[in-house]
Amino acid sequence: LNRRLAEFGTTIFAEMSALALRTGSVNLGQGFPDTDGPEEVREAAVRALRDGRGNQYPPGPGVPELRTAVAAHQKRRYGLTVDPDTEVLVTAGATEAIAAALLALVEPGDEVIALEPYYDSYAACIAMAGGARVPVTLRPREGRFRLDLDELRDAVTDRTRLLLLNTPHNPTGTVLTRGELAAIAELAVERDLLVVTDEVYEHLVFDGAEHLPLSTFPGMRDRTVTISSAGKTFSFTGWKVGWVTAAPELVTAVRSAKQFLTYVSAGPFQYAVAEALALPESYFTGFRADMLAKRDVLAAGLEEAGLTVYRPSGTYFVTADIRPLGESDGIAFCRSLPERAGVVAIPTAVFYDHRELGAPFVRFAFCKQRSVLEEASRRLKAAV
Ligand code: PMP
Ligand code: GLN
Repeated sequence: LNRRLAEFGTTIFAEMSALALRTGSVNLGQGFPDTDGPEEVREAAVRALRDGRGNQYPPGPGVPELRTAVAAHQKRRYGLTVDPDTEVLVTAGATEAIAAALLALVEPGDEVIALEPYYDSYAACIAMAGGARVPVTLRPREGRFRLDLDELRDAVTDRTRLLLLNTPHNPTGTVLTRGELAAIAELAVERDLLVVTDEVYEHLVFDGAEHLPLSTFPGMRDRTVTISSAGKTFSFTGWKVGWVTAAPELVTAVRSAKQFLTYVSAGPFQYAVAEALALPESYFTGFRADMLAKRDVLAAGLEEAGLTVYRPSGTYFVTADIRPLGESDGIAFCRSLPERAGVVAIPTAVFYDHRELGAPFVRFAFCKQRSVLEEASRRLKAAV
């Protein structure tokens, strides 16, 4: 393994999912739903396969039906006008979009600012692009992990090329507010930064929180690469269909990298996701309401087991503080939890450069059936 990747090893998700299988634990670690997405969308994939749509290399930018559906979604939901021919790129999940964007936009030695704790692929992709990561820490205060705008401002140097944002934020569940996003946009304009913004949880916001795409803020339209994915919104994480929307020049750049990573993404699923994006509003509100109910089941269960819970305003993850249990090391806690309680969770520390700041936090996924969340809560209450 080369020096750029040597620090990364196996992803925490693979490690913890293997541990869940080995110990027969309830797996609240890796974020994937335990029920599949809508029947009619699965049928659309079967139809595409059967009709021979997408069984050979689809077009490099993605099939026109999906690019058009992505543009229509951006218009309907956010009032954003996106040209399906020049401003949309279909990718192999958001994971490839992140990799391709960083490989395309970062010069070796450039600094890339990411909000810490960050989704694990960010650090690896910054490294693969030869960039230097500069973490800005979200700090828990008054029930929420918050961005300190002064800290963000101070992190920008003459070497800063790009901000890598994520809202709604995995793992903390924070949704950046209009004020925070406006300040980020102002900073990006002032310091002439590009922003790659990972908005895969755009449809999962709760309690009146609103997801606002950064690209809708003044001066951001032409400097923002927006990323989303069907894995989260439609509960098809195995399909690996994601997309990028950005100004033509940026889409062309990301596509230059993508063409040598995967060339194209799986064809039949693209036709199915095009239909998914056109589902009526009731699908999206129903999905959100279902996840909100699940959040509340798990949050209550964790509280009953004695943990301090940060109730997320977005995503399908809840972060809990284990210190009330007399524990302080989330990594050790998560390693012993499967044997001790039959539950798997993710130690948030692995998403930090400043590991000590994340030490007492543990992430639980609640995109699971209610009975599974209740079982996990019972086990935790009995054992911790
Ligand atoms: N970004 C974030 C913040 C995520 O949580 C995930 C999935 N867990 C991804 C990107 C990757 O998405 P995909 O499965 O579409 O590659
Ligand atoms: N994004 C999911 C999570 O945060 C897992 C994706 C993966 O396994 N790479 O849990």
